[in-house]
Amino acid sequence: MSHWNPRRTQMKLPPELTINPLFTREGEQNVPRFHIRDQGMLPETAYQIIHDELALDGNARLNLATFVGTWMEPAADLLYAETFDKNIIDKDEYPQTAAIEERCIRILANLWHSPHPMSTVGVSTTGSSEGCMLGGIALKRRWQHARKKQGKPIDRPNIVFSSAVHVVWEKFANYWDVEPRYVNITKERPYLDPKGVRDAVDENTIGVIAILGVTYTGIYEPVAEIAKALDDLQARTGLDIPMHVDAASGGFIAPFLQPDLVWDFRLPRVKSINVSGHKYGLVYPGIGWVIWRKAKDFPDDLVFRVSYLGGNMPTFGLNFSRPGAQVLLQYYNFLRLGREGYYQVQRTCQSVAKLLSREISKMGPFKILTSGTDTPVITWQMKTDYTSKWNLYDLSRQLRTYGWQVPAYSMPPDLEDITVMRVVVRNGFSIDLAHLFLLNLEQAVTFLDSSPTTTPHGSKTDNGFHH
Ligand SMILES: *Cc1c(COP(=O)(O)O)cnc(C)c1O
Repeated sequence: MSHWNPRRTQMKLPPELTINPLFTREGEQNVPRFHIRDQGMLPETAYQIIHDELALDGNARLNLATFVGTWMEPAADLLYAETFDKNIIDKDEYPQTAAIEERCIRILANLWHSPHPMSTVGVSTTGSSEGCMLGGIALKRRWQHARKKQGKPIDRPNIVFSSAVHVVWEKFANYWDVEPRYVNITKERPYLDPKGVRDAVDENTIGVIAILGVTYTGIYEPVAEIAKALDDLQARTGLDIPMHVDAASGGFIAPFLQPDLVWDFRLPRVKSINVSGHKYGLVYPGIGWVIWRKAKDFPDDLVFRVSYLGGNMPTFGLNFSRPGAQVLLQYYNFLRLGREGYYQVQRTCQSVAKLLSREISKMGPFKILTSGTDTPVITWQMKTDYTSKWNLYDLSRQLRTYGWQVPAYSMPPDLEDITVMRVVVRNGFSIDLAHLFLLNLEQAVTFLDSSPTTTPHGSKTDNGFHH
């Protein structure tokens, strides 16, 4: 079975779109699929064409693969509709949007215990991907400055992270010419091992990335232990290697569910943190944040000043124009939920995750790997002696027939031999839905158990929708 490819699949379809006769007007019958039409059409027709095609998209509530939020309450939708025209870069035209972005940065700097929350540097981003890139660029620049000062070469930078790192860090290393150094995860230590970090770093290391909420499993990497290993290294050798925490999912979980866990700016070695506002920050897709510990941890030669929008505004980021509405929605959630509300939402997700992991472990075929104790994400594998008739890829396909999207994938090195299935519990995946999911999971297992052994096995190329 080949992977879904939106370009290849469309090439096999007729070159023209068809229109429901009810909506067809004179001159609107023929709509080329791959060319812009000479004439326009009525808004109702254009709407209907797209509306009809989207009927085939998945149901977001049944998508247990993604971390990204897909629901906000009606008052937030109203605010969204009022503000979707705002451009975040245009701080002169929208000074209050800029002020609110600024306030969100202070709120996050406080939440993550920056020693100087009112003066430190931070920005909103398109998502954690941009936040990670900016965090990485700042690490690289800081290292270059320090090396130049010492009269040392700057041509061989490297960056250290675990093999379970999100693909965005591989992109960072590739796009910005930094050698990626992977510390492979193991069965005993399925996260960035502090000892492995000590062995991997050297004078050319721009920084160490720790993940709060590993994409593959949902668990936290031991940020404080890694920081301690680097403290010891500095005491022995003088090498001062900074850390960035990729808290894409955990940045909005740990402050509420594990407030005593020390992973953030309480550790002086942690110089910057990113988070996805559109994951457990509970905003629609399109928002992330990156914050530095103190203003001096941010190399200010990365800031540009532009005058062509009026005023003279400092900017820092990969994008220029970007929607401002998501920033306002983030602030809406801060106001609306408060600490208590965020706690309630995340706590509910965690209860659902724990319920699922208890019930799934009782079913027979599965062994729970992670049970939602860190972020509300659970993973399980097949018991090796259960059956050779079907595997988790088959189960993933079977669950799709009920509408559930649940990915199966192999773990990164050195655990490539382990295949896992993962459920990300998000706001809106209620206890009720979880019970319905468990029913369907049991039905899927019964079906696979009783089907003839001739079913061709699924394999890891079948689905790649877990990132
Ligand atoms: C989701 C995720 C990213 C990428 O974040 P986006 O907000 O999707 O751009 C990076 N790192 C980790 C650990 C993630 O979970």
